[in-house]
Parts: sequence; C-alpha cells; structure tokens
Amino acid sequence: MAIYDVKSNKAEEFINDGEIRETLAYAEANKHNEALIDQILEKARPHKTATGYHCAGLSHREASVLLACDIPEKIEKIYQIAEEIKQAFYGNRIVIFAPLYLSNYCVNGCVYCPYHMKNKHIPRKKLTQEEVRAEVIALQDMGHKRLAIEAGEDPVNNPIEYILDCIKTIYSVHHKNGDIRRVNVNIAATTVENYRKLKEAGIGTYILFQETYHKESYLKLHPTGPKHDYDYHTEAMDRAMEGGIDDVGLGVLFGLELYKYEFAGLLMHAEHLEAVHGVGPHTISVPRVKHADDIDPDAFDNGISDEIFAKLTACIRLAVPYTGMIISTRESEAVRSQLLRLGISQVSGGSRTSVGGYTEKERPHDTEQFDVSDQRTLDEVVRWLMENGHIPSFCTACYREGRTGDRFMALCKSGQIVNCCHPNALMTLKEYLEDYASPETRKVGMEVIEREIPKITNPKVRQIAVEHLHDMEGGKRD
Ligand code: SAM
Repeated sequence: MAIYDVKSNKAEEFINDGEIRETLAYAEANKHNEALIDQILEKARPHKTATGYHCAGLSHREASVLLACDIPEKIEKIYQIAEEIKQAFYGNRIVIFAPLYLSNYCVNGCVYCPYHMKNKHIPRKKLTQEEVRAEVIALQDMGHKRLAIEAGEDPVNNPIEYILDCIKTIYSVHHKNGDIRRVNVNIAATTVENYRKLKEAGIGTYILFQETYHKESYLKLHPTGPKHDYDYHTEAMDRAMEGGIDDVGLGVLFGLELYKYEFAGLLMHAEHLEAVHGVGPHTISVPRVKHADDIDPDAFDNGISDEIFAKLTACIRLAVPYTGMIISTRESEAVRSQLLRLGISQVSGGSRTSVGGYTEKERPHDTEQFDVSDQRTLDEVVRWLMENGHIPSFCTACYREGRTGDRFMALCKSGQIVNCCHPNALMTLKEYLEDYASPETRKVGMEVIEREIPKITNPKVRQIAVEHLHDMEGGKRD
C-alpha cells in the first residue's frame, strides 16, 4: 500500500488517498472543536513584522478542519482573515487577463468537456498563424496585456511545435500601443523536453487543472486518450519545474468530486511542490463545471453552492497566502464580487471561450468550450472593479524582470508590494485609461489613481510614479 510522502516523485504517494481520507475524518471529528479552530485561525492570520506582514499558512489537515467547520461565527472569522490576507499581500489590485483558444481538436474523452473526441456536434477549428495575429490584435484593441492560451490535446493537430509557433506569433504582434507581455499556457500534460521548449519560448505560468484528485473518479471521467493516465497528469507540474518553468498554476474542476476531498488533495499538491522544488504554486484556479455542448453540469452530482464556494475560496486563501488565485468568467458578476474580497487576485474579462471568437462581431457559441456567465466587455469589468474598490492591473513587470518562482514569493513575503506592485498597477491602469477606456471608465479611473497615489509609502518611489503618470498623458509608454 502506498504511503504518504510529501517529497516522493510518485503521484500516489504525494497525493495519497489514505492520507486524504484520514484528513477528512480528522476534520469531521474536530469541526466543532472551538479551541482547535481558534488555534488554527490564530496561526493563519497575518502577523505584523518590521517590513510588512508574515503569514504562516496552514497544512492540509488544519485547513480541512476550517472547511468542515459549520459554526457561523467561525466562518465569519475565516472570511475576515481571508480579507486581511488579501489586503496584506495583494492590496486591492486585481490582475486582468483573457483566455485565447487556439484549437479545439482533442483526442481525449473527458466526459465533462465538449471538446471530447466523440462530440460530433461541434465544428473543429484550429487557428492559423494569421488568425492568431488577428485574435491578438482584437484582444490588444480591448486593452489586454496578458493571455492564457488554451488548446485541446492532439499530437497531430496541435503538436508542441504548433503551440510554440502561436506563442512566437503572439509576442511578435506590436499593434498601436499594445503588446502582449505575458502568455500563460494551459495545455495538456507533456514531457520535460516540451516544458523546456515552452520555457525557452518565454511563457509565464504553466497552468494545468488536475480536474479531480480522486484517482478512481479521474479514471472514469477521463475514460480514453492520453489524459486517462492519472499519474502522468498529476506529476506534470514536477516535470514542468524540472524543465525550468518556475511558475505553475494548479486547479480543480469543482463539481466532479466531493469538494472536501479535492480541497485536501489540492493543498497536498501545493505542499509537495514547495517541499520538492522550494516554491509552491504561483496560482490556484477554482473553476466550477458549466453547461456546454453535449454536457449537462447536473450530470455531475457534486456541484457546490455559492456559499460553499465562498468558504472554499477563503480557506484556500488562509492555507496558501502567497499564491495568486484566479476566477474566470465561468462565474457571474455576483459570485465574482464576493470572491474578489475573499482572496481572488486575478480575473479574466471580456472572455470568449471559442476558437476565433474575438474576431467575430457576435459572441459565437458553436465552438465555445463552456457557457460564459459574465458576458460584460473588458471596459465594463474594469469600471465595475474600480467602482467596487479594486484597482485593475495590467502589470507584467515581475515576469519581465525575471521575478518568478521563489523570487516573486520573496517580494510578496517582504511586504514591499505597496512600493512595487502598487505603482506599477497604477501606471498600467493609466495606460489602459489613456488608450482603451470609454470616457465613463476613464473618469472613474482617474479618480482612483488620484486616491491611490498617496498609498505609496516610499517618497522617492511615489515621486517617480507621479512623474511617469504625468508623462503618459504626453503619449509616453512603458
Ligand atoms: N486540454 C488541456 C487539458 O486537458 O488540460 C487544457 C485546456 S482545457 C481547454 C481547460 C480547462 O477547461 C480544463 O482543464 C477543464 O478543467 C475546463 N473545462 C472543461 N470542460 C468544462 C466545463 N464544461 N465547464 C467548466 N470548465 C470546463
């Protein structure tokens, strides 16, 4: 029988089913143990240091106790600490990105995904390099600087060379004032050699959702194709890091399996990466299964309510305080609103989840991967964020200055984000307002910038930021 070993390179050992079951039993037995819960909450809360704040984070066992707890006052406390952590390390900045679907050819049989091989309803499409250019220009015209590329798994139609060509094309498009400055990649698990190629192509984060950590369910949900191999999929992040990729993004597709099981597995995965590679996941995404062509989300009976979803997000925030958290347009404006306060640091905006969708006038549905709940334009999302007290950020400076992996984490832990990310966010916001925003959004944004400048505590940095912001009005760009 496999034993739990956080440092093992075998999936069945670092995501050990026995350990997860014991964790869930421990959490259930202690869900009303107020003394223990208070102790865990005290450990999780941000502690002031000479330079900023420090957070200890939580183990998968501790965090699972909080997730199991159903005492209303304690849940309130979880939310409160999640908000404190969010403020301490990320402030009110929200990073904006958009997905770019390259190809929906896929040889897998994932039962929840409309791209599954047997689905004959959807037209199969793969962008040519010219079409990639056109999509990128459409995204740049909206104001985007960060993309997450998405593709089905198909070694013949979407080999690694195709993905690399697309990345090269994306980075080569210089259009008006816009450049795509960071390309994150969400493609199927691959080899160390291919991860090395992605690294050389200059990608940002490599994102791969585990879908479910529950092996038995995983095998049923992925009955055919290369993705059927649970171990190969689960060990992908280790290969990515071996291939030199510093920033990896984890995620679970909530609704497929029991959320408490997934939660413990997700945190064990994060602990494993930290223990072996010295750096935990750069981001965690929290997608929920959506309606899609050939897919009915009700067919998966582990769907979670908005309430549980909020609690889950807050508990992740407490457990891994230095990891960015992403929410996509799968979620509605109302859900996104609540989750932003509880720890989300990145959102997509103006997204189209179809291959070639950005160059179409109307939102196309025939090749869409899933229904998009938040169908607002980027301009509307940016304005909404600001009206709700957030600062939309298009910043990619960390990545461009080589501040990835543990170097990014060190900045985050140093508490110096306020003198680094905050001015950068304001400058990229100003760039957006000058070049792309509607007059209404621009007005709201200018007021936000005025209000936020005094928060830069270092006078020298503040002075430089004010000068840069002023220069932008004369057309100067980064
Ligand atoms: N093909 C790659 C893979 O298999 O990992 C990645 C790209 S896939 C286009 C991106 C993600 O979309 C999947 O990992 C899955 O979690 C999510 N997804 C698939 N079907 C979905 C659905 N019906 N609702 C919500 N998300 C879905």
